[in-house]
Amino acid sequence: MTRPDELWARYLTQRESIGEVSYVLTRAELSQGVMPPESPITETPSAPKTPTRSSRSTTGSEHGSSQDKWRKGAPEIPPPGIEIPAAPSDLFTEDPLANADLDRLGELIRSCEKCALSRERKNAVPGEGPPDADLMVIGEGPGANEDEQGRPFVGRAGDLLNDILAAIGCPRETVYIANIVKCRPPQNRNPEPDEIVECVPYLHRQIALVKPKVIIAMGGVAARTLLEYKGSLGSLRNKVHRFRGIPLVVTYHPAALLRNPNWKKPTWDDVRIARRLLAGER
Ligand code: URA
Repeated sequence: MTRPDELWARYLTQRESIGEVSYVLTRAELSQGVMPPESPITETPSAPKTPTRSSRSTTGSEHGSSQDKWRKGAPEIPPPGIEIPAAPSDLFTEDPLANADLDRLGELIRSCEKCALSRERKNAVPGEGPPDADLMVIGEGPGANEDEQGRPFVGRAGDLLNDILAAIGCPRETVYIANIVKCRPPQNRNPEPDEIVECVPYLHRQIALVKPKVIIAMGGVAARTLLEYKGSLGSLRNKVHRFRGIPLVVTYHPAALLRNPNWKKPTWDDVRIARRLLAGER
């Protein structure tokens, strides 16, 4: 069996990796086997299961429970930002997406040839998650690992995303994860405007079908595309935007956090704002 101090060290390393350093021991202390006086951890810290939409309390009644560690020091909910209104509905549309369910969308995406990205892909990456997820995370586009596997966020950035989600009590398998573009841009360049224009209707339809309670847009491409905004990512943080009525929080992309660990703390703040919104706070 794994020793409790090893478990504790693993837990702290995980918290540190997402920028929470307020109660993290130094590596020197960890290597000396120093244990905090009253460790709350007695077994491998697994993220609490987020209940399904029908059973989860969104009233904030979980305050103070062990599922609530993320709440300590979480920022206040910031003021409103950009509002993207609902798309006008067209009863007589011939758009094949308008009536597609998530499975059909997946098929349409995998056979899509609307832009040049389709020619170099190994696999399109439609997205994944529970069809009624309360939280939706939106990234930029597949990288090499995602292209290989046909699944979103499966590389190093994906591992970090999983840690972030677990730390706010929303394990990955409870979250719908999608991207702005569904095929890998060559050399991981940013998607071009014409590629986004062709691809983003798939995402819009995914959002309409999943109807998440909260959206987290990760990185500038996701944030600027969804909010139809040309400015910096920084100027979009610390606001609660609305995308077709759904609260949307902007934060840094996990891949950017791997390059610049200084952004982990602000990201930790942003995702805790999203988590508060998910708990029904306004
Ligand atoms: N980066 C993204 O934006 N999306 C992925 O799916 C993987 C990496």
